[in-house]
Amino acid sequence: MTSGAIEADAAITRLEQEARETSTAAGPSSAIALSFVDAIRDLLGHLSADPATVVRMWPSDLPEWVQLGLAAEFAAWCGGSSETCVHEPDVNRGDPAVSAARRPGALVCLGCAGHRDEGETRCDGCGRPDVDAVVTIVFGPLAFEVCVCDDCSIGGLLDGDIAILCAS
Ligand SMILES: [Zn+2]
Ligand SMILES: [Zn+2]
Repeated sequence: MTSGAIEADAAITRLEQEARETSTAAGPSSAIALSFVDAIRDLLGHLSADPATVVRMWPSDLPEWVQLGLAAEFAAWCGGSSETCVHEPDVNRGDPAVSAARRPGALVCLGCAGHRDEGETRCDGCGRPDVDAVVTIVFGPLAFEVCVCDDCSIGGLLDGDIAILCAS
């Protein structure tokens, strides 16, 4: 990866530091931010290949179809309308959860993430049966998997890369 690439451990250290800084400035919202850091640490530990390439991205770095898919997924989870595994990961507790663009509205906990039926592999951007990279966008406690062909690649992310989304 390019200059934005950082190690998973360094990414977590930075997030933790930022959450602490925000907590002193903003007060009560800090508890949420810090619990998300724990969730993100769990997600990275579970998802990352070795060596993991973890980048920080802004929502605006993502193509619109990814932004919309991720926003819809997160909103459905917050609104309680997502279908989940039996362990019911809870956004209010900051439970880490994994979802995929190819399966909108369906979330699983980390324990169940490896046991899903992966289904047909098609590019989530254009629908062609041609997947060159599976990348994961981490937004708070939610990991959102996206399959893309070369034409639909996301901000230079390569197969297996993980992008942690910065809040705007
Ligand atoms: Zn589960
Ligand atoms: Zn495509």
